[in-house]
Amino acid sequence: MATNTHYDAIIIGTGAGGGTLAYHLAASGKKILILERGSFLPREKENWSALEVYQRERYHTQEQWFDTNGKAFRPATGYWVGGNTKVYGAALLRMRERDFEQVTHQDGISPEWAVKYADFEPYYAQAEQLYDVDGQAGLDPTEPTRSQPYPYAPVRHEPRMQELANAFTKEVQTFW
Ligand SMILES: Cc1cc2nc3c(=O)[nH]c(=O)nc-3n(C[C@H](O)[C@H](O)[C@H](O)COP(=O)(O)OP(=O)(O)OC[C@H]3O[C@@H](n4cnc5c(N)ncnc54)[C@H](O)[C@@H]3O)c2cc1C
Repeated sequence: MATNTHYDAIIIGTGAGGGTLAYHLAASGKKILILERGSFLPREKENWSALEVYQRERYHTQEQWFDTNGKAFRPATGYWVGGNTKVYGAALLRMRERDFEQVTHQDGISPEWAVKYADFEPYYAQAEQLYDVDGQAGLDPTEPTRSQPYPYAPVRHEPRMQELANAFTKEVQTFW
């Protein structure tokens, strides 16, 4: 039987990138194929366990990757419908202007990007609307410029987080 294998767009992966693109293109009426190598993340109580998700890396692949020196490591990534966003911490931060410049890290140099923060800014603004991001501009001295306020006011910190926030604020005020 002949099948129609023409697609206007083929999206590989259903993470934050592929998923957002699919959502955006859906209204276009174009014929879109989405390919995903992973299966559905099992629903289980460990989904909610920071120990399992972050420390035991329950949902990360068992694959071995190799760095430029041939040293094996287990990558902090998983293959699931929804990608890593199935287990991510839901802290949707914007990168800083300087992240697009050359940055020297402990493990090497992150080269300068050909595109800059200003190129991304309108898309950050759209993404914050799409993902209902909470926050308050003007508190973080490292935060980049923004064309729109956060769509929602910040949620309250949990008590321990509030203690940390107070301590950091004091520290930052002394520093700046
Ligand atoms: C535990 C954890 C917590 C995190 N917390 C945060 C946070 O709080 N805030 C934040 O901003 N970021 C966080 N991140 C990072 C964030 O989740 C990722 O940056 C983001 O999900 C990347 O999106 P992506 O679409 O680029 O890739 P992914 O989400 O990795 O999606 C890629 C998709 O492609 C699929 N795929 C790969 N190869 C193929 C192939 N050959 N064929 C078909 N499909 C393929 C994969 O299965 C996957 O579904 C966290 C990550 C983890 C693991």
